[in-house]
Amino acid sequence: MAHASRNKLVFTVKDKCKICYTCVRECPVKAIKVVNGQAEVISARCIGCGNCVTVCSQGAKTYLDSRSEVYNLLKSDKPVIAMVAPSFPAEFTEIEDYDIFVGMIKQLGFDKIIEVSFGADMISREYAEMVEKSDKPLISSDCPAIVYYIEHYYPDLVPLLATIASPMVASSRIVRKEYGDVHVVFIGPCVAKKAESDEIDEALTFYELRMMFEQSKITKRNAKPQKFDPPYAGKGAIFPVSRGLLQNLNKTDDISEGKIIVADGSKKFREAIEEMSEGTISDIHLELLSCEGCIMGPGMSKNGSRYARRTSIGRYVKGKLEKLDKDAWNKDIEKFKDLDFSQAFTPADRRTPMPDTNEIYKVMQSLNKFEDKDQLNCGACGYNTCQEHAIAILEGLSEIEMCLPFSIEKLHNSVEDLYISNTKLLNAKKALKQSEKLAHMGQLSAGIAHELNNPLGVITMYSNIILEEAKDDDPIKKDLQLIVEQTERCKKIVGGLLNFARKSQVNLSETNMEDFCKHSLKSIIAPENINCVFKSNMSNLFAMIDTDQMMQVLTNLEKNAIEAMPDGGQLTIELKGDDESIEINISDTGSGISKNNMDKIFTPFFTTKEMGKGTGLGLPLVYGIVKMHRGQIIVTSNDEKETGPTGTNFKIILPRNIINK
Ligand code: ADP
Ligand code: MG
Repeated sequence: MAHASRNKLVFTVKDKCKICYTCVRECPVKAIKVVNGQAEVISARCIGCGNCVTVCSQGAKTYLDSRSEVYNLLKSDKPVIAMVAPSFPAEFTEIEDYDIFVGMIKQLGFDKIIEVSFGADMISREYAEMVEKSDKPLISSDCPAIVYYIEHYYPDLVPLLATIASPMVASSRIVRKEYGDVHVVFIGPCVAKKAESDEIDEALTFYELRMMFEQSKITKRNAKPQKFDPPYAGKGAIFPVSRGLLQNLNKTDDISEGKIIVADGSKKFREAIEEMSEGTISDIHLELLSCEGCIMGPGMSKNGSRYARRTSIGRYVKGKLEKLDKDAWNKDIEKFKDLDFSQAFTPADRRTPMPDTNEIYKVMQSLNKFEDKDQLNCGACGYNTCQEHAIAILEGLSEIEMCLPFSIEKLHNSVEDLYISNTKLLNAKKALKQSEKLAHMGQLSAGIAHELNNPLGVITMYSNIILEEAKDDDPIKKDLQLIVEQTERCKKIVGGLLNFARKSQVNLSETNMEDFCKHSLKSIIAPENINCVFKSNMSNLFAMIDTDQMMQVLTNLEKNAIEAMPDGGQLTIELKGDDESIEINISDTGSGISKNNMDKIFTPFFTTKEMGKGTGLGLPLVYGIVKMHRGQIIVTSNDEKETGPTGTNFKIILPRNIINK
């Protein structure tokens, strides 16, 4: 039964949806929900207009298939009558002789083939009378999608719907009167008809009819010509084009008469109803069609052109009227004129309550729309305004990602984040390389230092013995002193190497950092021309450090600073801290480090100091110890007087409590 309670007319074909939001944009009642990148039809909201089926280029929307039900009816004992909508010449343009078309339908097993146009003829008379007599505004009720729209979304306007049956329902009443107990199957361009009325048994679209012809291998070549069965239709055949009803009534929508407004297509019909509801138009008859004429209905084959279809209808009607037996037609009109063609309509409010303004505002904010100028109302999401989109999000119909400007901004941010992570990764790689280099150097140094330590010990011991034994006036004494001095220097270098190659272990103890830093300054002997300053703003003075190793760090940095200020200057140690970490800044007003050398200073044996003064092992040692404390070392320096005061700052950041691994 094509009953009115049938509520699932249009469906989504899974996985075909490519989320272009065209259906969202074109759905007059916003009955499309986007979830997980698929657009689903919400049956409770749908008015069956089939607009989404027409506009979806991916074939991701389809409608209820009634073919198997019709095949079952054809197998039953009762006669089955096909009622063909007047738009058929616009669909079956390849069939020049419509008697052949009738023959093809008969060949499917239908007992009689009736034109719905006769029903249209009958209800035109009712409309003519109602328009003439009515002193209130009227809305035509021949398009089922329009009727659902008003019943569900403008229930207050239901009393304005013309209480006249549609041409399909009128035809079914005529057929049942004429042919008695029969099954009635409507065939037309419309999807909404499938749920319009309990008075017909089934409704097929022209597209379904085409498929049935194909299944049964019925073609225009193998079909025998047949005539439509009575009652024969007249001008009602013009109904499916826009303004068809008017032409039938011999009326116009001439603006100077101002009594009738024709609005077709999903945008225009909504505007007209909205204006009627607001009261800006009244005392007027609205002739409304959800499609741009039934000839553009969703049950037609795709991609047909509107004006070619219109011409086909015109040609058919002209030919038909020329051959029309007026007397017989008038007789039929007389015969059925007392049949009840009335139709009642009941409001069935399906409007959803408007969400709270605060909630809408919150969603707008989450879409980065804070001011009016942020609301582009670009329509890319499928909604006319950003506000409508926000409401749809609150109703669970839409997703934030459907906002194109928002998604583009998000993408930009992601690219930026990616760039930052990339840079971080690069720096980490560099640090890793440096550590590896240091580790290799460490192994090598350890080996060399170990081997050198013993012979050096022997040289020191014997050279000292010989030096002690030598007489003061012995000319060799000076040379011996040089040997002892240089051997001591070698021992210092070897000691440095051993320090540097020490195993990666820290021995942590809780240390008062202020005392510790002050102590480090005391242990280096600063020349008089150097002013040593200590600053601290720490509230928690304690951190876990390896005091022996960290003392080496501070004294090395302090010595470097002093050596960079041969003409005097200021050495500053500054302590800062938060809950997590402490920061030690060792800065000087010395020569600064050139940009070229910046990359090299942590490389073992790199030194700019004169022979005998520098070993180039201080900073690699500092680096190794800070890393073992899971800390960070950052150098900033300026060596160009022109750009400002010269000097260097070594910033060491250490976690307060590190786990000794
Ligand atoms: P060394 O002190 O034995 O030269 P380091 O590893 O301690 O070796 O330092 C390497 C080089 O880094 C130094 O030779 C010097 O050029 C540069 N350097 C280190 N600290 C400073 C500083 N505070 N001011 C200027 N240059 C510095
Ligand atoms: Mg040094």
